[in-house]
Amino acid sequence: VKKHLKGNYCFYSLELQNKSLEQIKMINYLRHAIDHNEFYLLYQPIIDLQSSNLMGAEVLIRWVHPKLGVIPPMKFIPLAEETGLIYDIEKWVLKTALMQKKDWQEKKYPNLKISINISGKRITSAGIINEIRDLLHETRLKSDEIQLEVTETAVMKDLDASMKILNEIKNMGIQIALDDFGTGYSSLTYLKKLPIDIVKLDREFIKNISIENNDRLIIEHIIKLIQELNLKVLAEGIELQEQVAILKNYNCDYGQGYLFGKPVTKEEFEKLILSN
Ligand code: C2E
Ligand code: CA
Ligand code: CA
Ligand code: CA
Repeated sequence: VKKHLKGNYCFYSLELQNKSLEQIKMINYLRHAIDHNEFYLLYQPIIDLQSSNLMGAEVLIRWVHPKLGVIPPMKFIPLAEETGLIYDIEKWVLKTALMQKKDWQEKKYPNLKISINISGKRITSAGIINEIRDLLHETRLKSDEIQLEVTETAVMKDLDASMKILNEIKNMGIQIALDDFGTGYSSLTYLKKLPIDIVKLDREFIKNISIENNDRLIIEHIIKLIQELNLKVLAEGIELQEQVAILKNYNCDYGQGYLFGKPVTKEEFEKLILSN
């Protein structure tokens, strides 16, 4: 036992060595948050651009610290990844999101796809396969209405390991989205190698399409290329009607952004489902 504890201690002290006091404080808060349920989920609408129908939601985590208030995911997800706390956090996200979907199904709401972010660390660790399998069994949800989002950067970090796991997930019937496309290396050859169903074009790609000719040209050809590889394409960060018109014209499949709706609580999202 002693040996075990000592090993643990070494592990943590090494981990913490390069951290500022501020970060160490945050890590402790994060541990506390997991034990005390300080997280909740928001849902952002995903729209079928051609029909304008609501087709699903991306699940986005929020953390409210009792004293510090809302802490944005960009501030704690990287810390959670570094310390391994991400395993517990994302396990909770996955379970809560699937239970929510189950609840909507029992209420006889229209079927919507639910899209869940998976961090790089988890996409290379085999545990996630059983976790998903157990949850599917528990909720009896159909796997094709569930989508996982992985970023390019995460996948590229350990291509062999993530390919293996992505293939298994895909074989279960779950859809896979390549998130934030355009922000990382964006090697086009990976688009056909990876077992993905959909590519999410980052907001950076979309931001200026209504004012920059070159940006419009790039997006037009990127969409074509993705679709020629038999993948669907989603444009992120749509804020303007002009952007919708352009993307529709280029035959972009799906859209997401403040124009259609910001991430909202499950209660508000239910109103959206019912009014659609
Ligand atoms: P992301 O996956 O790229 O999520 C989209 C982010 O863009 C969200 O920020 C969303 O609120 C924001 N967004 C959506 N539409 C618009 C728009 O029209 N304009 C602008 N300016 N922003 C828009 P959020 O919720 O702050 O999340 C930030 C990032 O945190 C996410 O980026 C994702 O990488 C990460 N994240 C959130 N939840 C989770 C999670 O459960 N697991 C993991 N691993 N990461 C998560
Ligand atoms: Ca995402
Ligand atoms: Ca994204
Ligand atoms: Ca992003």
